[in-house]
Amino acid sequence: MSVERAKLVAEAGYRCGYCLAHQDYIPWVLEIEHLIPKAKGGSNDESNLWVACHTCNLFKSDQTHAHDPVSGRLVALFNPRQQIWKHHFYWSADGTLIIGRTACGRATVIALNLNNLIAVTVRRNWVKAGWHPPV
Ligand SMILES: [Zn+2]
Repeated sequence: MSVERAKLVAEAGYRCGYCLAHQDYIPWVLEIEHLIPKAKGGSNDESNLWVACHTCNLFKSDQTHAHDPVSGRLVALFNPRQQIWKHHFYWSADGTLIIGRTACGRATVIALNLNNLIAVTVRRNWVKAGWHPPV
């Protein structure tokens, strides 16, 4: 692991910036993702990098904006470097679903498919094990 990668992952608390999956509970290495995708001119500067799990990174792809399902407005996706997760999302009472509190949060839940069936199934088991949701 390069120093830069180790620093970023530590700064992110060893969690995906979107679904908050912890490195200890996923069977693959957290990925360094470009907040503004390289395909859309995003740089490799640290300010444009954060940490995401493979699933979130895959679903995010080159998206930067998505439609809020409530207002229909096109809004910027959640930026885990600049924004605070709990301001935009919360966990369902059983800890398995990520629910958007804001237009940005709601759009990001859909765009990144944060409640995909596999993630929800895995979270259900994390809850049983007492690993989830994060506090
Ligand atoms: Zn994730």
